[in-house]
Amino acid sequence: MVVSPSAQAARRLVSLVQQVLPTEAVVACESMGEGVSHTQSALMRGRAAALFLVDARGRPVNETARSLQQAQAARADAELIVLADAGEIPALAAAMAALGVSEQANVLSGEPDPGLIAGAVRAAALRLQTSVTSQRHHRNSAQTIGALELEVQELRARLDVAKHAAHHDSLTGCLNREGFVEELRTRLSRNRQMQNVLIVDLDRFKSVNDTLGHQAGDQLVRKICTAMAGVIPKGAVLARLGGDEFGVLAEALSDTGLDSLCRQILQVCAQCRMIGGHEVQVSASIGVARQGMAKTDVELVRQADIALYAAKRDGKNRYKVFDDHLDESHKYRLNIERGLERGLSAGQFRMLYQPIVDAHTCRTLGFEALVRWDSPEHGSISPAEFIPIAEETGHILDIGDWIARQTLKDCRRWRLPYVSLNLSARQFLRHNIGERLLRYAADADVHPGRIQIELTETAIIDDVERASRNLDILRKAGVRVALDDFGTGYSSLVYLKQFAIDCIKIDKSFVDNITRDRQSAIIVASVSKLAASLGMSVVAEGVESADQRTILIACGCTALQGFHFGRPIEACETEALLEVGKLTASSVAPGA
Ligand code: C2E
Ligand code: CA
Ligand code: CA
Repeated sequence: MVVSPSAQAARRLVSLVQQVLPTEAVVACESMGEGVSHTQSALMRGRAAALFLVDARGRPVNETARSLQQAQAARADAELIVLADAGEIPALAAAMAALGVSEQANVLSGEPDPGLIAGAVRAAALRLQTSVTSQRHHRNSAQTIGALELEVQELRARLDVAKHAAHHDSLTGCLNREGFVEELRTRLSRNRQMQNVLIVDLDRFKSVNDTLGHQAGDQLVRKICTAMAGVIPKGAVLARLGGDEFGVLAEALSDTGLDSLCRQILQVCAQCRMIGGHEVQVSASIGVARQGMAKTDVELVRQADIALYAAKRDGKNRYKVFDDHLDESHKYRLNIERGLERGLSAGQFRMLYQPIVDAHTCRTLGFEALVRWDSPEHGSISPAEFIPIAEETGHILDIGDWIARQTLKDCRRWRLPYVSLNLSARQFLRHNIGERLLRYAADADVHPGRIQIELTETAIIDDVERASRNLDILRKAGVRVALDDFGTGYSSLVYLKQFAIDCIKIDKSFVDNITRDRQSAIIVASVSKLAASLGMSVVAEGVESADQRTILIACGCTALQGFHFGRPIEACETEALLEVGKLTASSVAPGA
């Protein structure tokens, strides 16, 4: 905008500006008042003048300063170029300063050179342009920041959802393992009351999944979770740590408080529930760690885990609180586990054979193969101790293979009596165990009719379908089947018939009591009678005295085994025993 009271001067200045800024609109006004009102109305249309070229020559300095002030008031970033009489410049500067007009105003004196004016206009236009661009940048970046903030908010919301999912179990809606551990960590760091960590694991949950399907299993987990939530104290936390494993965090419990909480949990877990039209009942085992010596979440969870395993080993459906003794035995177990790994390749296992004799004649009918482990670290370790560990770790598969091969190799030398091979549950439920054993028998050139396998009830009950398939293959080939430790497990007579068992081995615990306790004698007598009616033979185990033998015969046992007749012996000693026994061909059938 060119402001000049002289029309002629105004024209000259307008054309000068147009030459410098050919794309811009130039307006001429006679006075600043006119110029300002023009600027204000133009402002509303978004096209206000930004560059004022004010011709103040011959005008009072105060008036000029005021009009400049008005221009700046109309537009704060306005560029001002003032043409003033040279003599008036100091007074004008003072008047401008008094009114607070920006020092940026460019005052040119006298009748300035058009080149000088053009330069000032060009410089002002350039300044304006930069300031507009930077304003636009500023606006743009403000917008970008706004968008980013929105994005951050969205991300945060999504993160919250993901975090919730990462810390919660989708089936039950309660905390999962990560959430549980984090909660424990937070509680420990807050250093509040003494924390108790409970790990609850359902017993035999797998069989629910296997027989009724995973949906039924899920339903059971949900129901038990809800039931548990109902018995945990206020302020306690319940989590599902995995499949059928739950965690409870409870603080400040007395010994009796902890005992009653565990009992309540065991009770609600063991309730009978309807799942998909079936009545389902499971039990639970609980491992407990109390915040004492253990300070960290990792240590507490580890201790609760150790206690849980101890509760399982002690027979399930119970709780166990961690103590140092448990830790010791856990370390010993770990040691055994590692030893088992090496033991086989290092040739530390050997087989012994214990005679099974005819109850009346005492002739050797067969031998039970019993494994021995001579550990360089721990000395001779009982199979009763290391077989269950090998079962758990899976080492039993390799060890069992070795036992079967070695036993079949050893029994070739006897020619006549049978060998009775113990198979642990895991080994027997291997999918191709039938084919495997028959192959080993063929390799050793031993007829399957000379082999008896000893199974416990758990080996059959754990997976009835697979057990019956494996039994089928073996029985068809002539292998005979004995039920070991009868009387200690479920002793479900149903299985005897269903699985065509050939022989029942009555557990030593009955034999131990038989001379003192009429009840044991009655049980042995009725089992023998039942077995006879089903065409099975009965072997009584752990016979240590002549008196026991007499009563067992009276109870109807046809075969006996125990230290009274012979301890387990090396393979090379068996022939001498058979020589003495004068074995005859009629006594070779297993369990005869
Ligand atoms: P089991 O199958 O019940 O074996 C009988 C156990 O009772 C053997 O203990 C045997 O030595 C012992 N015994 C026999 N007669 C008497 C007696 O008159 N008095 C006493 N006090 N004990 C007697 P062992 O050899 O220590 O085996 C313990 C358990 O380890 C076995 O119990 C069996 O469950 C397992 N086992 C042993 N060898 C093997 C094997 O080769 N494979 C598998 N899977 N398990 C085995
Ligand atoms: Ca046995
Ligand atoms: Ca036994």
